[in-house]
Amino acid sequence: KVESTLSITVVGASGDLAKKKIFPALFALFYEDCLPEDFNVFGYARSNMNDNELRDMISRTLTCRIDKRENCEDKMDQFLKRCFYHSGQYNSEEHFAELDKKLKEKEAGKLSNRLYYLSIPPNIFVDAVRCASLRASSANGWTRVIVEKPFGRDSESSGELTRCLKQYLSEDQIFRIDHYLGKELVENLSVLRFSNLVFEPLWSRDYIRNVQFIFSEDFGTEGRGGYFDNYGIIRDIMQNHLLQILALFAMETPVSLDAEDIRNEKVKVLRSMRPLQLEDVIIGQYKGHSKGGRSFPAYVDDPTVPKDSLTPTFAAAALFIHNARWDGVPFLMKAGKALHTKRAEIRVQFRHVPGNLYKRNFGTDLDKATNELVLRVQPDEAIYLKINNKVPGLGMRLDRSDLNLLYRARYPREIPDAYERLLLDAIEGERRLFIRSDELDAAWGLFTPLLKEVEEKKIVPELYPYGSRGPVGAHYLAAKYNVRWGDLSGED
Ligand code: NAP
Repeated sequence: KVESTLSITVVGASGDLAKKKIFPALFALFYEDCLPEDFNVFGYARSNMNDNELRDMISRTLTCRIDKRENCEDKMDQFLKRCFYHSGQYNSEEHFAELDKKLKEKEAGKLSNRLYYLSIPPNIFVDAVRCASLRASSANGWTRVIVEKPFGRDSESSGELTRCLKQYLSEDQIFRIDHYLGKELVENLSVLRFSNLVFEPLWSRDYIRNVQFIFSEDFGTEGRGGYFDNYGIIRDIMQNHLLQILALFAMETPVSLDAEDIRNEKVKVLRSMRPLQLEDVIIGQYKGHSKGGRSFPAYVDDPTVPKDSLTPTFAAAALFIHNARWDGVPFLMKAGKALHTKRAEIRVQFRHVPGNLYKRNFGTDLDKATNELVLRVQPDEAIYLKINNKVPGLGMRLDRSDLNLLYRARYPREIPDAYERLLLDAIEGERRLFIRSDELDAAWGLFTPLLKEVEEKKIVPELYPYGSRGPVGAHYLAAKYNVRWGDLSGED
């Protein structure tokens, strides 16, 4: 058997994402013995640092899971010893050639596999890929590149990015990451549906009234609005994370669990959808206000945001899938910053029980009380099904109740971070949770005309107070399709 070695290079190692997510995820994989025996981690960035300074920086971000405190310090030391740094420019072939030399020294003539993680601003993706592929590719094993969003800002720029990347890499070397696809509950979506008889038969327009994909943050841009202002919430959250979940939710049964079979089905869903219409979208932006002696800033108070910015920090949209399974079912999306709560969830609202015996006998309350299945992706992962239930006692009173699978009660082990799963998949060559270029094209095709129209017509977003439930317009949009957001019983 040929001995092999793995080199993981984090390009942009001095940055926020590298510190917050990538190094901690690599350490967690190491702790769980999921990395190959022979591996090295390289940090690459322009900042001046030596190996020890990189190790110091990384060590400040590492933690052990609550249930994995044993040997934690030892494991950290072992991990840090495998971390090295190389300082260089992102557009310098020469600097990448120097990196190559260092990698080769560590690889010591073994079969070498190389994984690059591009954790840098998008305007330098192509430079870094050019230099890495020309001067620091593996000579005898595989070379793969994980690319972070944003993958362009519209169909044209995304197509251009793909074309440029493909000058240096083949499609199967490119791993476009959408970390929502690595979240436990999103992965479980297909398990829930395809391995339980009680769900799949109901998964269609015959039984489902509408589906909602909701993302909310309870904080604003808080001084980091520079990047966001150029993209806005539709590009930042809807076109990628929420649309990816929608495609997984709505796809037909794939031929197998093979990455290409799953991605083929997702593309079909995206291609069965009509581009979004302006009248099916509401945009909003948070405004400042004071509450309980505290004042909350407006989006445009962020010093990194232009004072006259029209960038949406909130959007709600209604989408439709024109196929036999989903014809006429509204798929609603809602995403926003500076709202009253922080959560991401999928809500499936079912139709009324035809000729409901209990509604006839026990009044109108049950009018609204259809079943609802909720997958809470974050925080506090849970799956619950709202059902009608008899209140115990001699009388006959009905109540809305939950069949509740709360993850922290059922699975007390901490859930791995999405980046751990995705990094491991990239190392193992598993592409199921990464986005193929035709999926990306189809996703941009749905949103690009709308984004252009919003920007060309300079549509003014509806203002909503920081910490509120968002613009009222979102409720009108839902009402247009006979939908109420959130819990049908009125709690949100
Ligand atoms: P970042 O901190 O702004 O940048 C990463 C590194 O890139 C910096 O440490 C800097 O390193 C270098 N850099 C920054 N601006 C540069 C410029 N104008 N020209 C050349 N080099 C520059 O970015 P990040 O937040 O870590 O994000 C990295 C990538 O992940 C981005 O594409 C971002 O969109 C994506 N992403 C981030 C997050 C997140 O939570 N942060 C989440 C999802 C996706 P040196 O100066 O040392 O070279």
